[in-house]
Amino acid sequence: MKKKSIVSLPQCLLKSLLNYDENLVEEQGGFILKSPDKEDYEFIPVTSDMHSNPGAVGLYVANTEEFGNKILAKTIDGFKIHASFHTHPVGMRALPSSTDLSELFTSFPINYIYAPFRELNRFTYNDGEWEMHNVLVFDGFDPYKHSRKPKVKIDALDSWIESENL
Ligand SMILES: [Zn+2]
Repeated sequence: MKKKSIVSLPQCLLKSLLNYDENLVEEQGGFILKSPDKEDYEFIPVTSDMHSNPGAVGLYVANTEEFGNKILAKTIDGFKIHASFHTHPVGMRALPSSTDLSELFTSFPINYIYAPFRELNRFTYNDGEWEMHNVLVFDGFDPYKHSRKPKVKIDALDSWIESENL
């Protein structure tokens, strides 16, 4: 039997980005799971409860049944939910909405938001506050010019893949 290769966190994040369906004008999301004893990650998409509703354009709510079947089922096998991941509408920034903060983020210590072709940010809970860490920013979009320097600045996904050796 062929051994499954290890997927690093950056590789897994890349998979989450590539999973984004441009033709579906809705927020999309899922969860990043970590293997029990190694640095091996997996992105599992979960359909939004808002799917096909007008509100889906600007809100991601993980479907409870799918979350149970696809995510919780794996935690029984020892997998840990490493983080939540969801996209924002094209043109918007990857900053949490009040619903993100009051609902989605309350269940997970690490949360990723991807603003398609703009930026990917990670939010972690620290000392009673949410901290933002910029994971990558696409060329031509630089909200950090006068503040924090982005970790990775990329022309396109290709450059990121190259720089991270994905
Ligand atoms: Zn959001």
